Amino acid sequence: AYSGLGNKVVLITGASSGIGAGAAEVFACHGSSLILCGRNAENLQHTADKCIELGLSPNKIVQVVGDVTMREDLEAYVNKGLEKFGRLDVLVANAGIGVPGNLETLTLEQYELQQLVNTTSVFSLLKLAMPELKKTKGNIVAVSSIAGLRPIDSMLAYSVSKAGMDQMIRCISLEVAKFGVRVNCINPGAIFTNIFTNCGMFGDSKVTFDLVNALASSTHPLGRCGNVYETGKTIAFLASDDASFITGETLRVDGGVGLSQPLFDIPS
Ligand code: NAD
Repeated sequence: AYSGLGNKVVLITGASSGIGAGAAEVFACHGSSLILCGRNAENLQHTADKCIELGLSPNKIVQVVGDVTMREDLEAYVNKGLEKFGRLDVLVANAGIGVPGNLETLTLEQYELQQLVNTTSVFSLLKLAMPELKKTKGNIVAVSSIAGLRPIDSMLAYSVSKAGMDQMIRCISLEVAKFGVRVNCINPGAIFTNIFTNCGMFGDSKVTFDLVNALASSTHPLGRCGNVYETGKTIAFLASDDASFITGETLRVDGGVGLSQPLFDIPS
């Protein structure tokens, strides 16, 4: 278990599925108080039920329905959590979308929506949450992507949005270090979640674990895709007191896919 998480109040966006839900479960195992934020009440309830099954008291959970692109909804995320728990220690900025496309195929609207959801909304949420995080010497863990650290040409807008997130994290970490607030992000490789179903990357074919895992096995040096508990545990580590000297970090959780490939195969 990681240090100090039992006393922390943790806000997670995009908590109703995938990486956000997996992180919620890991925090639940540590006894953290959770502000679960998402767009769909039923799916949020599913995450809350899982956390309760893992032993977290229902009293330690608040669910807030809202869209990260709406300022009032972001205010509700922070304020409803404060009403219930009176403090905020950790913000996990996880909500995001991925729309495939390049310069030729993406529309301006698709491009702008990805910047708004993945990057601009994080700026807005951090602005709202920072006064509370300064009071608690709290921290932020944003969920970026390997696409932030190296380009994926078929996911132009997504890559730009995540590179923007990485640089935002670095800038803000410098700005708030003097208040004892840490700011980090994780950069996952392929993690099996709904994002592959929702992005339309595979047309009408059913997106199964076997499909994503097989594709990842040829590109990820560890030979497989990752799961939401692998990202969840890394998020929990960065949020915990065990990471007390880590800030401004972009941490790959990617089975090695972000390492540069050799120039060519050198016969061994
Ligand atoms: P997911 O689709 O299961 O989760 C995304 C979550 O964000 C969903 O709960 C969705 O409802 C929420 N969301 C999207 N738009 C929103 C909006 N406007 N307002 C509020 N919530 C919104 O997929 P995931 O893989 O769990 O994605 C989580 C994060 O992880 C994303 O930021 C994504 O870019 C990042 N990521 C995923 C992978 C991967 O391989 N799965 C890899 C790298 C990074």
